[in-house]
Amino acid sequence: MSDQKIIDGKAFAEKIRTKITEQVASLQKHNGFTPGLAVVLVGEDPASKVYVRNKGEQTKASGMASFEHKLDASTSQATLLSLIDQLNKDPKVNGILVQLPLPKQIDAQAVINAIDPDKDVDGFHVVNAGRLATGGQGLVPCTPYGCLLLLKDRLGDLAGKHAVVIGRSNIVGKPMAQLLLNESCTVTIAHSKTKDLPAEVRRADIVIAAVGRPEMVKGDWLKEGAVVIDVGINRIEKDGKFKLVGDVDFQSCIGRAGAITPVPGGVGPMTIAMLLHSTLVAACRQHGVELPK
Ligand code: NDP
Repeated sequence: MSDQKIIDGKAFAEKIRTKITEQVASLQKHNGFTPGLAVVLVGEDPASKVYVRNKGEQTKASGMASFEHKLDASTSQATLLSLIDQLNKDPKVNGILVQLPLPKQIDAQAVINAIDPDKDVDGFHVVNAGRLATGGQGLVPCTPYGCLLLLKDRLGDLAGKHAVVIGRSNIVGKPMAQLLLNESCTVTIAHSKTKDLPAEVRRADIVIAAVGRPEMVKGDWLKEGAVVIDVGINRIEKDGKFKLVGDVDFQSCIGRAGAITPVPGGVGPMTIAMLLHSTLVAACRQHGVELPK
């Protein structure tokens, strides 16, 4: 078993963040502005609080401005929409992220679609989904974008590869499939109604698992040498202790895989790095300047 097979998302994300820090410094020095990201948290979901804290810390560490808005769990949709409106108009705010899930009195899609698409750094707005599907210049969902960079780093040109994406959510599966299609992969999207998932996976040069089921993908499903990207984050109890596992059974897959992301330390760290990248891109577009080299 070789360490070279393990795709180190943590190290890759760190390289991206270092580059972003240099780019932010360059924008401050030569263009006189600091990119800013606003993160909105509604309620007390413990996992969401951790994500929001990490996003804020990493935004500040990159030299960007971080604006955190924490609202009560009982916040009405109208109050949240009024905050979004204020952030849309604020020139210091180049990116807006509303942490999901939202409390049940709020329609998440209505909130997402109220964000200015050019500030929608999560890439979930229907306009950005449309731009991704039609080849326009938009903002791309962070997790699939991070997966794509890991794949390109490992495989180079992806054209002609057969990719199987397991999961069809709007935030991971569908944009992932679209990104791979844009790279000229042949793409299969599998989901809970797929008849013979192991047979679909066996045809894949690239497997993306975004399901939310602990260790579902098994080693004997894989074609020898397939590259496996595990998006899943599942908290399970094993031997009386809690641990994080992916949607892929890492131990049984690493033998057959050509390369594989671990959980944790694979896709997870890439998500925040790509969020910072999207904020930088959005800020440059809003100021009409090139992204610094
Ligand atoms: P969703 O629950 O929205 O979607 C899960 C998808 O998996 C659905 O399309 C569902 O199919 C499909 N599915 C469920 N069961 C099966 C099955 N037995 N066989 C085949 N397909 C199945 O999840 P998300 O896309 O939001 O997230 C997926 C995973 O990725 C989760 O573990 C989540 O925690 C993780 N995640 C990680 C991130 C990161 O930064 N690393 C970011 C975002 C998510 P159907 O549509 O038919 O119901």
